[in-house]
Amino acid sequence: MTIEAADRVKAIPPYLFASIDKMKQQARAKGIDLIDFGVGDPDLPTPPHIIEALQFAAADPEHHRYPSYAGSTRCRRALTDFYAERFGVKLDPDSEVLTLIGSKDGISHLPLALINPGDLALVPDPAYPVYDTTVRFVGGEVHRYPLLSEQEFLPDLEAIPAEVARRAKLIFINYPNNPTGGVASLDDLERIHRFAEEHDLLVVSDLAYSEMYLEEERPPSMLQVAGAKARCVEFYSLSKTYNMTGWRVGYAVGNSDVVAALGKIKTNMDSGVFGAVQEAGIAALTGDQGCVAEMRGVYRERRDLLVESLRGLGLTVRPQRATFYLFVPIPAGTTSMAFTARMLDEAGLVVTPGNGFGALGEGFIRFSLSVPSARIREAVLRIGRLVL
Ligand SMILES: *Cc1c(COP(=O)(O)O)cnc(C)c1O
Repeated sequence: MTIEAADRVKAIPPYLFASIDKMKQQARAKGIDLIDFGVGDPDLPTPPHIIEALQFAAADPEHHRYPSYAGSTRCRRALTDFYAERFGVKLDPDSEVLTLIGSKDGISHLPLALINPGDLALVPDPAYPVYDTTVRFVGGEVHRYPLLSEQEFLPDLEAIPAEVARRAKLIFINYPNNPTGGVASLDDLERIHRFAEEHDLLVVSDLAYSEMYLEEERPPSMLQVAGAKARCVEFYSLSKTYNMTGWRVGYAVGNSDVVAALGKIKTNMDSGVFGAVQEAGIAALTGDQGCVAEMRGVYRERRDLLVESLRGLGLTVRPQRATFYLFVPIPAGTTSMAFTARMLDEAGLVVTPGNGFGALGEGFIRFSLSVPSARIREAVLRIGRLVL
């Protein structure tokens, strides 16, 4: 008997990254020593004080039972204190904060909470694939709006047709941006907020990389814009900041109607974040932030090394000001996928083809700086041989 998958499953386009995984396996089988710039996952360990908080809390029987759905009050308060200090934003821990099983949990369930069949969402191109897929899962429509290199990968709002903007219910934004490394200033966020006001849109802000800034300026939160709470929900993640991608803890904050709707969905889908992981999250947010400054230092060094080396090879690269992604235009006359395949076959380097993030990512490859400096040097030697 063949079990047929639901239409929503069949409608998902073939996963580009699956074919890259296959190519990786084949290369490994051939004995090629791979250097992996592909995964958006920090290679650095979680800081020890966070691990200790988990270890201690894991022994407490209180955490062996179901946790509260929205997260403990202390866990939510740890984030509201953090937002007050970091962004100057005041949040009510009871009605404006929800603890999540990683921010992807909230991002992926948001359409279920907000989108009716036929409702339209504005999604950047290129973008983290989850926004587009999960809106379609619930029968929503997606309009991709451009992020262009010549506009520093900020939203090209003019390019959104008036009738599309009028019909849309929400707009996803993600700054600092994956995959482009683009950064939005508070002015930029105010411009996006004005657009949202004009067209009566909810702004869904994915702030996964707020602490991964590599220059002086600290990326702002959308909630710093005056009045933003009326039409904004923001997703905050501990994953990249504290090297905690495997731990699964994040937050939704902002508009209380949205937080309540998402909470209602989640109450019916999962049973919250393991209490000991919440304790680890509290330790991360309230502890010494020196580990975060160290993390920035590591990525800054890797970025500078890779940028300088790629430039030495004649490639045009602009160093990103935040995130651990370098989005590099490929030479004319080839495609992202063909270039990625060639890097893998001939140099043993894994990168991500830009078109995996949307049509406008074509012509780029993404390097994730989750590779130690010594290996970056080795990679650059290999690319040198490839280009020549
Ligand atoms: C890594 C990442 C996330 C974070 O996911 P978690 O579920 O919090 O681990 C969210 N958005 C973007 C754009 C990311 O790159």
